[in-house]
Amino acid sequence: MENIVVLGSTGSIGKNTLDIISRTNRYRLVGLSYNNNTKEAIKQIKRFSPKFVACGKTDDIDKIKSINPDITVFAGKSGLNEISDLNEADIFVNALVGTSGLIPTYNILKNKKRLALANKESLVIAGKIFKEMADSSNIEIIPIDSEHSAIYQCINKQNKDIHSIIITASGGPFLERDSFENIKIEDALSHPTWSMGKKITIDSATMMNKGFEIIEARWLFDVKYDKIKVVVHKESILHSAVEFNDGSIIAQLAAHDMRIPIAYALMKPKRMDLEFKIDLTEIGSLHFQKPNFNKFITLKLAYDALKKEDKNLGLVLNAADEVAVEHFLNKKIKFSDIFKILQKSCEIFEDDLKQDIFAIEKETIYIKNEVERLIKKDFIGG
Ligand code: NDP
Ligand code: MG
Repeated sequence: MENIVVLGSTGSIGKNTLDIISRTNRYRLVGLSYNNNTKEAIKQIKRFSPKFVACGKTDDIDKIKSINPDITVFAGKSGLNEISDLNEADIFVNALVGTSGLIPTYNILKNKKRLALANKESLVIAGKIFKEMADSSNIEIIPIDSEHSAIYQCINKQNKDIHSIIITASGGPFLERDSFENIKIEDALSHPTWSMGKKITIDSATMMNKGFEIIEARWLFDVKYDKIKVVVHKESILHSAVEFNDGSIIAQLAAHDMRIPIAYALMKPKRMDLEFKIDLTEIGSLHFQKPNFNKFITLKLAYDALKKEDKNLGLVLNAADEVAVEHFLNKKIKFSDIFKILQKSCEIFEDDLKQDIFAIEKETIYIKNEVERLIKKDFIGG
């Protein structure tokens, strides 16, 4: 049995990961981390009996200890740092959301542990560094994101002959809408095909998620921006594809359930027997169309970020998006403001590609504060 730690176990990816772990005896859950969802975490601790738990609030320490006094409990930001630095783990799943996943990704790679990565933000902020760390210790970052899992499976170690990478996008709930005015939070949170955490659901509605996935693919598969294409595919059945030099396109098709890519990341090259099979004759037809770059400027911003790699605009986009989405969810700004904030942030800010991960984290916090100030000044008039 191998020891696994799941960071962000109470989230959408985290819960699906525990479901997959419970179906195999390959893994023992030795550690989990969560932030605020104490109720779900307690359920998980009772069910899986991990030796290590990292919680968001120090108030939770006694509650966890009362389940089993032998559990080592870490708390707060330093707790996340400690649990991601655990030597007892053979493999980590990073299912944290946003910048909170950055230092954990660094710790896991620094310790040369296997990493199944859902936290795409790590690669958006510091993809170059993480790629170099993984390459120099000859470890793979195994993608969990469904598109990247598909690409990973299609490439199957034939990196040299790739003509292009084709990332599919459902297009989110507003694909057909002419304008982004008067959009309610509930509308933005109702994704047509996937069920996910709030942040990524809003990112899917703005298509910033697809922009982040372009940057994620750049670093995971070592391909330049001009070899990465986005294709809108509303059915979310074909999860992405690779076009090889001879014109062959190899794609991965499956139901839209994140347990499929999670199981692959944890069990590869084996395939777990899962109940989510699809019947192509029932699906009947699949549709593909070009994305509208004028409407979804988020895609353009992501390509621009890769074109100007020395300005590390991925860091800026991620920071601005985290602040903008939080303000939208708190009803402080309009949905359409998110696009304006992202564009403006990319015009004003840049980073000089710091090599030290702690300097990168500091820079992210700085830019988030600056974006907060920009929003107060220009969007909510404070
Ligand atoms: P959720 O919001 O559902 O879950 C996030 C997890 O991280 C929760 O366990 C949460 O704890 C924890 N967390 C949040 N903020 C912090 C913090 N500041 N410090 C410590 N822990 C924190 O997110 P998802 O599962 O949807 O997404 C996770 C990652 O996977 C994201 O990077 C996303 O882009 C990526 N992803 C998600 C997909 C999906 O289907 N959901 C698909 C592809 C990629 P708590 O809940 O206890 O507060
Ligand atoms: Mg995805």
